[in-house]
This record gives sequence, C-alpha cells and structure tokens, in this order.
Amino acid sequence: MDSYIFDLMEAHDYENIFFCQEKTLGLRAIIAIHDTTLGPAAGGIRMWPYESEADAIKDALRLARGMTYKCAAAGVSYGGGKCVVIGDPKRDKTEAKLRALGRFIHRLNGLFLTGVDVGTTPEDMLVMRMETPYVVTVPEAWGGPGDSSQVTAFGVVQGMRACLKEVYGSPDLHGRTIALQGVGSVGKHALKYLAEAGAFVTLADIDHRKASIAASAYNAHVEHPEEIHRLKVDVFCPCALGNVLNDQTIPQLRCKIVCGSANNQLGEERHGDLLHQLGILYAPDYIVNAGGLLSNLDSLNPGGFNRERAIEKVSHLYDALENVIAISKEQHIPTYRAADVLAEQRIAAVGQAKRLLGWETPKERAAETGMPMSSIYYKANLFDQAGMASLLPPAPPPETPKQDKG
Ligand code: NAD
Repeated sequence: MDSYIFDLMEAHDYENIFFCQEKTLGLRAIIAIHDTTLGPAAGGIRMWPYESEADAIKDALRLARGMTYKCAAAGVSYGGGKCVVIGDPKRDKTEAKLRALGRFIHRLNGLFLTGVDVGTTPEDMLVMRMETPYVVTVPEAWGGPGDSSQVTAFGVVQGMRACLKEVYGSPDLHGRTIALQGVGSVGKHALKYLAEAGAFVTLADIDHRKASIAASAYNAHVEHPEEIHRLKVDVFCPCALGNVLNDQTIPQLRCKIVCGSANNQLGEERHGDLLHQLGILYAPDYIVNAGGLLSNLDSLNPGGFNRERAIEKVSHLYDALENVIAISKEQHIPTYRAADVLAEQRIAAVGQAKRLLGWETPKERAAETGMPMSSIYYKANLFDQAGMASLLPPAPPPETPKQDKG
C-alpha cells in the first residue's frame, strides 16, 4: 500500500493531523498534534504562502514536534501541536476565515491550545476567541499576557546566568562582556536586563537607527552586523535570525557561551557537535527562549493570567539550563542533544506514571504486566508522596572517604 502521510507521522510518532477546509472562504489549514503525554497540545498558528501542500504538512509536523520538546523541557504539562494556514497573511486573512478556523479548533475540544506565530497577531486571536476559548495569546487589555518579548528576554537572561555559573563559577552578569545580535522586540529587552545587571554590551542590528537608539539608551557600543559574532566576549547572544551557527560563523566565534532568543540557531545538528568540540557552551534555543510560551500558558490557570506567577515560572529556565548542562556532562553529549534527553526523560516518566496510575485500573495493569497488585499500589503511593522523583533511579550513595589502613 502506498503511504505518504502515515509514513511522515510514523517517523516521529505523531498522534493526529487534522485538515481543515472551508471552500467558500478559501480556508485551508492543517493542525498537527505530535504528543499529548504531558497534556493538551500547545502551539501557535502560522500563516504562510506555502508552495505546496506537502511543504505545509511537513512544516506543521516539524513545528508540532518542536513544541513537544519545548513544553517538556520547560516543565509545563502540555504537549506539542501546531496549526499552519496556507495563505499570504498580508492578502488572504479575513475575519470570516479566522472565525472558521476558530470553529475547527473548538471542535477539538481543548486537545489543541493555540496562539500567535509567524503571520498571525494578538488581534487575530481576539477574532478567533469569538468562536473558541482555546486561544491563549490575547492582548493584555483582554486579560491575556500581551506581548511576550520582554518575558522571553527575561528567560534568555536566566539561561545566560546558568551558563555563566558553569563557565565562570558565578551567575553574576556584572562586568561580563556580551555581543548582542539584533535589538528588535526581544533584543531590546535583553539589552535592558543585561545593562542594568552591569554587563558590558556591544550590539549590532541591520537596522542602524534601531542600533544607535538602543546603544545610546544603555551606553552600549555598536558594532557592524557582519562582525558581531566575531567579538572576543564572554557571551554571544543571537536575538535576530535562525541558522546563525553554521560552517562559516562557528570557526570565527571567540566567545565562551552562546545564549540568545533566536529560533533554530544551529544550521544543522552537527553544528551543535562542533560547538561542543570547541568547548563553547551552547544554551539550546528552544529552552532559553521558552519564556513567552510559559507566559502564554499561564493564562490557562484558574483566574487567568498573573504576571508575577508567569515571571516566577520563567525564572526556572535557569534550573532547566542547569539540568541540561548536568546531562551534557554526565552523558558526554552536546547540550543541544542533552536538551532533547531532558525532554524525552520527562515525557517517558510521565507516560509511565499515567500508565501506572491513570489509564487502567490496578487490576487490569496487574493482569497485563504480571506485576503483583501490592507492588502496583506501593508504586502508586510512592508517586503520591514523591511525585516524579519516585519514578527516577535512586541517587547513588555519597562517596565516603577511604580509611587509611596504616
Ligand atoms: P524582531 O523582528 O522584533 O527583531 C529582530 C531584530 O534583528 C530586528 O531588529 C532586525 O533588524 C535584526 N536583524 C535581522 N537580521 C540581522 C542581522 N543579520 N544582524 C543583526 N541584526 C539583525 O524579532 P524578535 O521578536 O525580537 O525575535 C528575535 C528572535 O527570537 C527570532 O528568531 C524569534 O523567532 C525568536 N523568538 C522570539 C520570541 C518573542 O517572544 N518575540 C519568542 C521566542 C523566540
């Protein structure tokens, strides 16, 4: 049997793909659900003039899987999904189309929670809200988190502090040198946090006006965009474009740490290996730039969005980075791979807990596994007391100093 879509789905074990079509409006959208082990799938709506249906499907699948890892590593109880709409956001977006898409999302009954991505805006989300509550990123005036770039920058700085702790023994930014690439929505907030913490920032932006306004506000130096990654600094902070770490740029780096908000910084995975070999600590992008996601998801809590709570959650990206670094060192693997391991471990452990506790009765589980009922109850009680820790291997005993026999 010929199989195209199922082959794609099997490759990374996707759960569902929903195709949404409304002929009179010309709506064509695809919602991909990758993995809901941790909870309902979260992911934005991307509108893009894809050249082919196959491109749109592949993009939806790729982005949905990315969201599974991002949610898992960020410690939230959501899985990964994504919606892509085929069309030009400047030309093809209408209220009717957005509302029709909202109705399709509503049909999924909370399986998919969504928000802004490339080609969509918080205002579009408000239109979709007329049809469904499963739209998360609405403007602040409507009780939502609003623009997420500031909180994203805050998360990047937390990740950077964890990297500094690893490399220099202290998370303090004071006196550290940073090369900041891009002072757009995220970069300008990152600049403020870094400058206020006493770091020396050199910045670059292809928009020279933006660069000079930002630099004069925070007494930073301006560098040519072609040169910014070559500076001898403690941290290179890419907050502009993806694919910034590649065969050409990596040999030119003279920093100890790369930590920034830009998505898809590694040209290819092997570039993460290369950074590792060169002894440059790379903060995996999808972990350090998860602040916006965490903030958006906060609005799903009872009572709605709470900025203080969201910021508190984002501050834990420091711990997430520490965990990634620990896995990287223990398993002798690059940090980009360690981030995936962190996410996969969490999904596996929660999946195990669900199988043990939720998806079947202890009696059915005993019949299926041959495990005595008593040990199933014992494990369930342990889980109640210790949570996820009860499913992880016990910590090795502390080393005791050897006694001198003399
Ligand atoms: P933005 O468009 O507001 O800012 C990007 C800035 O980079 C612009 O000022 C642009 O002029 C500049 N730029 C482009 N090419 C450059 C180059 N070669 N050298 C120097 N500067 C250059 O985008 P943003 O919202 O600040 O996002 C920045 C990155 O962070 C993107 O990769 C985005 O996907 C990622 N990100 C953003 C958020 C968010 O909350 N906005 C969340 C997660 C990830």
